[in-house]
Amino acid sequence: MKTRDDVRWEKRRSVSVDERTLQEAQDNVASCEVCTPDEADTLFDDLLDAVTGCDPRTTDYVLSVPARCPQCDAPVRTGRWEWVTESGGKRAVWIVPGTMVSTVSG
Ligand SMILES: [Zn+2]
Repeated sequence: MKTRDDVRWEKRRSVSVDERTLQEAQDNVASCEVCTPDEADTLFDDLLDAVTGCDPRTTDYVLSVPARCPQCDAPVRTGRWEWVTESGGKRAVWIVPGTMVSTVSG
């Protein structure tokens, strides 16, 4: 019998992000889609890609805690795949988009 994780990781790689790496990515966040929707044009995932050097097409980031927007303290999350079981036992995947942020310039 296949477990949830067997299915989930078939084509995708999960990368655990430690606190230091998360902090490094978070340091580039100026504000988020909650407090500055007009300026937030970068996915938080992109900042993690830059810090970790991972390929965004095949990488899921696993955060032990969400990052926080320095301006409004809203949680800043990465995009992720989430497997759900529909009625009837059919499996489906939802792609949950990450938080959009604006970055610190300079
Ligand atoms: Zn914010």
